Amino acid sequence: MQDGVMQAWLESSHLAGGNMAYVEELFEVYLDDPTAVGDEWRTFFDQLPREGSGHDTKHSEIREQFRALAKNKLKQAGTVVAGAPDLKQVKVLQLINAYRFRGHQHANLDPLDLWKQETVPDLSLEHHDLSKDDYEQEFNVGSLAVGQETMKLGEIHQLLEQIYCGSIGAEYMHIVSTEEKRWIQQRLEGVRGRPEFNTDEQKNILKELVAADGLEKYLGSKFPGAKRFSLEGGDSLVPMLKALIRRAGEQGTKEAVIGMAHRGRLNVLVNVLGKKPQDLFDEFAGKHSTNKGSGDVKYHMGFSSDFATPGGDVHLALAFNPSHLEIVNPVVMGSVRARMDRLGDKEGAKVLPITIHGDSAIAGQGIVQETFNMSQTRAFQVGGSIRIVINNQVGFTTSKREDTRSTQYCTDIAKMVQAPIFHVNADDPEAVVFVTQLAIDYRNTFKRDVMIDLVCYRRHGHNEADEPSATQPVMYAKVKKHPVARKRYAKVLQDAGLVSEDTEESLVSNYRDLLDKGEIVVDEFREMKAHSSDWSDYIGNEWDVDYDAKISTTQLEQLGTEMSSYPEDHKLHSRVKKVYDERMKMAKGEKKADWGFAETLAYASLVDQGVHIRLTGQDSGRGTFFHRHAVLHNQNDASTYMPLNNIREGQGQIELYDSVLSEAAVVAFEYGYATAEPEALVMWEAQFGDFVNGAQVVIDQFLSSGEQKWGRLCGLTLLLPHGYEGQGPEHSSARLERFLQLSADHNWSVCIPTTPAQVFHMLRRQHLRPVRRPLIVMTPKSLLRHPLAVSELEDMSTGVFQNAIDEIDSLDAKKVKRVVFCSGKVYYDLLKERRERESKDVAIVRIEQLYPFPADEVSDILKAYKHVKDFVWCQEEPQNQGAWYSSQHHFRAAIPKGADLTYAGREASAAPAVGYLSEHNKQQQKLVDDALTIK
Ligand code: AMP
Repeated sequence: MQDGVMQAWLESSHLAGGNMAYVEELFEVYLDDPTAVGDEWRTFFDQLPREGSGHDTKHSEIREQFRALAKNKLKQAGTVVAGAPDLKQVKVLQLINAYRFRGHQHANLDPLDLWKQETVPDLSLEHHDLSKDDYEQEFNVGSLAVGQETMKLGEIHQLLEQIYCGSIGAEYMHIVSTEEKRWIQQRLEGVRGRPEFNTDEQKNILKELVAADGLEKYLGSKFPGAKRFSLEGGDSLVPMLKALIRRAGEQGTKEAVIGMAHRGRLNVLVNVLGKKPQDLFDEFAGKHSTNKGSGDVKYHMGFSSDFATPGGDVHLALAFNPSHLEIVNPVVMGSVRARMDRLGDKEGAKVLPITIHGDSAIAGQGIVQETFNMSQTRAFQVGGSIRIVINNQVGFTTSKREDTRSTQYCTDIAKMVQAPIFHVNADDPEAVVFVTQLAIDYRNTFKRDVMIDLVCYRRHGHNEADEPSATQPVMYAKVKKHPVARKRYAKVLQDAGLVSEDTEESLVSNYRDLLDKGEIVVDEFREMKAHSSDWSDYIGNEWDVDYDAKISTTQLEQLGTEMSSYPEDHKLHSRVKKVYDERMKMAKGEKKADWGFAETLAYASLVDQGVHIRLTGQDSGRGTFFHRHAVLHNQNDASTYMPLNNIREGQGQIELYDSVLSEAAVVAFEYGYATAEPEALVMWEAQFGDFVNGAQVVIDQFLSSGEQKWGRLCGLTLLLPHGYEGQGPEHSSARLERFLQLSADHNWSVCIPTTPAQVFHMLRRQHLRPVRRPLIVMTPKSLLRHPLAVSELEDMSTGVFQNAIDEIDSLDAKKVKRVVFCSGKVYYDLLKERRERESKDVAIVRIEQLYPFPADEVSDILKAYKHVKDFVWCQEEPQNQGAWYSSQHHFRAAIPKGADLTYAGREASAAPAVGYLSEHNKQQQKLVDDALTIK
């Protein structure tokens, strides 16, 4: 610390009074929380050098300096150390600070009063050397935002209890930003723990609680024993969500996307989104429309509506989701991001994500962490989300904390992004609405995630047919006696003389009458207006529908040149420069196109047509195999340049991001994006194809069957490097067999293109064809640089994607004795070997799209080989993997009657590939031999 500063301070501060201990204590308070000390002190302490701030001074050294300087100064001045009052003042500040930090641990959060809260010593007066004897003494309240500078200790203590240990337990002191902490303090402390609502608002809350309870009771009596995953016990979720949407609408939100598991979902559908009760009753009665696909249970179904707020209508979309808990969160975020992009909303001011979690799931599922980790990144940020936990203190039959988690609260994971967490007792609906308003205001001010932990209970078992007392006897003995939220709140209002005794009963019977009529019960419900995303062009089209693929060679040359150009002063790495120099030659037709060129050219041609492209993935900017280089890094200053975004004025935008190192959350996010935006080509790329199994839930539960279960189209493309190059079990297979096993109902396309022209056509087809279904691509590794895997520009300006490709060498078809079918890289191994052998009697036919199987094209190709009786399927993968088991029925159906189909490939194996290169080479040679040798 500089002597000059210290000197000035010594002369001007309380230290002149001589209390070094006072300053030290105050400094400790400041270190815990800079907002806890007065402005003057903070300004001073802010000037001190800090550990980790780039200065090398340690806190202990600073204190040493305090002491030394103070001693000298005080000696000179001959002053006496000041007495107790100053020290007590610090203690009071420490007490305030302790409540801010740990008050939530004494808060009254559990409606059932079952939580065993430990006693927190810091929250006692004694811990701070204070006692009730000091109650009458006046102290400065520091930064306590209660609108007074000084107060008696008794009042301060009472206020702290009220603010921090009432129905709200606020955790926010882990936030580093002083501004955010101050903001939250102002809001919490400003109302002194007693949020005020006017009588109309209070009556409205009561009405909403009546609705929450009324629906469950009605369903319970009309459909006894049917599963509905009742909200009962967490009834205040309904006033909470409605308050949230209202306030968001007032602040400019235009769309909100909600993700929630099954608990309380039917209630939210009817009482918040305005689903017609009659439609729900019909679903309970088993009615459904016949023209839909496989369908889904009612508590997985999504819904869309508009909700009137003082700021205008807010469009609400409840996301469809399976029972796999928490996985819908990144889907919601992706859907929000797509809507933000469509509305030109960079910060999330117009679109709001709301995710509703279960207490066991939020602590148990890793996808929660992945989603939080994405929340502030370039590719995935959505301007913060509102996270609500329906914390009914039990997951199915498991409720002991020592069984469900290792954290204090189920919400602790939110601290990783410094989200404030508001625990709130669900039986205090005013506190619930208050924290909800606080949460949305915080999100909209700071564009960060915020968490509300709605501490409640579950009136029934996991579902209504379950007997919860068998496993939670004490809890359910209490639940049975516990009055419902609406009754409790009605009594509060009656006791305050705000409503008459019969108000509650008349609200209950009015609501029941509405349900009897089956009519919509939400006053704010509005019919959904024409929507900015229009899917009508894509509904009902088959995968092989025609599309306009035209593009001229001149256009390709021009686009090729644009996409290979960059500013002169943007200095490229020499290896990257070489790639770009080569691309320039390819654009001019001086060199055949390679994979990277053709893929990039497909993107260039699409953005030139105004298409929006989004590609995220692990190292996608450069490409795992140093082949894409869509983002150019200036070697002088590390700035970046994307030629694809500089094709022409007014072009479509390409967003290309290296993603966070996750699969599940990222693929789910992109699924959410692609299901909300039909007009963008959305792609995810795996670093190596096998990593896609980290996203298996998304593939099984959403991508493969979202259209069949929910009628939701999705054009997401997965680029999965695949191919047996001797790199061992973990980098060879993108698990083609899994995608083929899930292939049915023309749910998606599974392609293995083998030439640059094919990848060009395939990517363009995926977007230009009026079909929005997923595309799964096994992308190559060694083919990226294979001398034979090259194409002419004319191969791209003519034709379309070939689902199957006939023999390319000029063999005399009549002399062919064997036809080998194959897909992917092994084709080049077969071709090379056959050419070396100079054999003329084996034709090689490539299946470039394994699903939907191109029966017509294959049959056309086979017309020339009608006489052939010997057909072989050749694959690199072990026999139990790859396409053999899932696709052989298609191959068999395609070959002439009486012909034989045999297998040439690796033997069945538990692992995808061997770990030894020599063994790999041996196997590879054998499968090629097997395929080509006619015995
Ligand atoms: P949303 O904005 O998600 O509420 O969607 C509004 C409406 O657009 C829905 O009710 C559907 O009719 C339609 N829609 C939205 N997404 C899709 C999709 N992925 N596939 C088909 N139709 C969709």
